[in-house]
Amino acid sequence: TPRAPHHPRARAEIDLGALRANVRALRGRVGPGVRLMAVVKADAYGHGAVPCARAALEAGAHWLGTATPQEALALRAAGIDAPLLCWLWTPGDPWREAIEAGIDIGVSGLWALTEVTAAARAAGRPARVQLKADTGLGRNGCQPADWPALVAEALRAQGDGLLRVTGIWSHLARADEPGDPSITAQVDVFRDMLAYAEKAGVEPEVRHLANSPAALTVPGAHFDLVRTGIAMYGVSPSPELGTAADFGLRPVMRLSGSVALVKGVPAGHGVSYGHHYVTERETTLGLVPLGYADGVPRHASGRGPVLVGGKVRTVAGRIAMDQFVVDLSGDTVEPGAQAVLFGAGDEGEPTAEDWARAADTIAYEIVTRIGSRVPRVHL
Ligand code: PLP
Repeated sequence: TPRAPHHPRARAEIDLGALRANVRALRGRVGPGVRLMAVVKADAYGHGAVPCARAALEAGAHWLGTATPQEALALRAAGIDAPLLCWLWTPGDPWREAIEAGIDIGVSGLWALTEVTAAARAAGRPARVQLKADTGLGRNGCQPADWPALVAEALRAQGDGLLRVTGIWSHLARADEPGDPSITAQVDVFRDMLAYAEKAGVEPEVRHLANSPAALTVPGAHFDLVRTGIAMYGVSPSPELGTAADFGLRPVMRLSGSVALVKGVPAGHGVSYGHHYVTERETTLGLVPLGYADGVPRHASGRGPVLVGGKVRTVAGRIAMDQFVVDLSGDTVEPGAQAVLFGAGDEGEPTAEDWARAADTIAYEIVTRIGSRVPRVHL
């Protein structure tokens, strides 16, 4: 495993070789007829959007996906000109800049079509629009009842030369729950809404529904392309589906800090705010300079696992804003020793999935919330 140059305090090493290997593994899984959209929203789930986008494209991803237009425009500003879909729009967003940058705009409702067409008129070129159906998620997307009106309006604007409908797509609610009947129900609704749009005259370049869990486990949901985020970062979408290793995926992020202080305390000494941990005997405490401001979940106080001095230990007491304590229980650990919160798991360190369990959350949240104070070191 490659290692980062020395960084004081803390760093998140990002193994781009692992990311590339994950993209290749995902492409192998979905087969040659299905394209891959690398989802790099939220700074590539905390991994760094620009380097991850580049690495994913190098490894054979065809598309990129972001939530906000700012995220999409930042990729273009970095010189990345791959096909790019952006799906979370708000009134007042930079529609015209997005059109001029050749960004595909996800549209879920008539209000957005109004904004898109006005911006296309101002830009003097047609927008690329991907109509999003709500096939059952109950979040973004157009309800089936409203679909005919959205399709008709999009085709009218297409006829006026203001846009081109380049995609029809939707998103799954429960793909991480193997065998859940809502998955096939959503696939059926998607087929119906797609058929309606195509019969009405839409000729999409791409039709897509699957996220990582569906890309990994529901071939019937693959259509023309799969939008993979979490799997590409080498993290399993859910313990119910299996571990990342079960799918041949390797964790990309490794979060570590340098032990900032080692000191002896007597038995019966309370540790950190609230004294939720009390030493049973005379012991050695180590201070790890990472806290909830860095995205280490406070909810994992007393539970989060950390590899220090060759042993996995548990966070002692509360995780504070900038630091937490581990009980080194008589071992010799020097200041500056590495404390690994999570990584690939093959050197005895915990994984982001372990932290998700300790914090009662999903591994998506663990990696995505690592704070901006932690330098990302791309390897
Ligand atoms: N597609 C859309 C619309 C999303 O919002 C997301 C992320 O939540 C994804 C795809 C990628 O999901 P995953 O990380 O499970 O692959």
